[in-house]
Amino acid sequence: MGSDINTRGVNGPASQINGATRLVGVFGFPVEHSLSPAMHNAAFAALNLPFVYLPFRVPPEQLKSALLGLSSLGIVGVNLTIPHKQAALSLVDIVTDEAAEVGAVNTVHCTPEGLVGDNTDGLGFYTPLKETNREFAGTRALVLGAGGAARSVVFRLAREGVAVALLNRTLDHAAALAMSVRSAGYENVSVLDYADTAGIREALHEASLVVNTTRVGMFPESDGVPELPLEKLSGSQLVYDLVYNPVKTRLLEEAEKRGCETMTGVKMLVYQGAAAFERWTGMWPPTAVMESAVLRGLE
Ligand code: NAP
Repeated sequence: MGSDINTRGVNGPASQINGATRLVGVFGFPVEHSLSPAMHNAAFAALNLPFVYLPFRVPPEQLKSALLGLSSLGIVGVNLTIPHKQAALSLVDIVTDEAAEVGAVNTVHCTPEGLVGDNTDGLGFYTPLKETNREFAGTRALVLGAGGAARSVVFRLAREGVAVALLNRTLDHAAALAMSVRSAGYENVSVLDYADTAGIREALHEASLVVNTTRVGMFPESDGVPELPLEKLSGSQLVYDLVYNPVKTRLLEEAEKRGCETMTGVKMLVYQGAAAFERWTGMWPPTAVMESAVLRGLE
């Protein structure tokens, strides 16, 4: 009689788990489709670090007890994804300035002082821009959208001295975001109305950076393109789409046709993960390895 026991894993990663293994992971609900385990585990393997990253399916009503259990279990830290990012703000011991500004926690780090709630999305968004040979400080950006991702983007751009014009389907949402950015002391944020076609054309033409933070163009509605007078792209703008599935959105295809440099949402995904990785391990990971793991996961 054959055994039902699956022994295929004995030479896999599980065989390397021992008393020195450190655990990190992601809390989400759902969490099954997260690309973070593949991305982080690839970086741990590349650096030969004794860490494992696991997905944890944590329902909203269990977030508090799951966070409380982290230190007891010796878990180094976790990422938080939908729907936990806002709720965690009041459940950690220390909230970093960035997480407080953005109003969301995406990375928790267990420290001797308690649970630190941080937000690495803004850094994840901006670091790849710094790696281009362009200077964005002192220039203008047109940001589409006013949801959770837009908050991280707009606060980071404002911090970096980039003037932001916000354009969103629901004007009130853009106005509310602009108001909270201004209340934090950053003046250079304005709101555009879709009715103001001349204003939008001018903002697009003058921008050095155009960022899509909306869901338009995301799988399965990959045919979508954000409503914009794309003919006003002069070719000098960098167009950045936070959507990472598909990797090359229709917006990026249209921008490339007009001679613009483009950046995919995979970069932000990788760099927000890299910043979390650094907080947990003290080391900056090989981002190219993480990016390959994400691209394989998206295939
Ligand atoms: P969210 O909080 O739900 O915000 C969604 C935004 O998209 C809102 O501004 C909403 O406008 C707008 N929107 C949705 N459907 C639209 C439509 N049909 N036409 C025009 N506008 C529409 O979502 P989020 O968390 O900010 O995520 C937004 C996108 O960013 C997603 O595609 C997500 O995958 C991506 N993202 C990527 C990364 C990364 O690391 N690359 C990180 C975070 C998010 P209203 O205000 O009018 O509803």
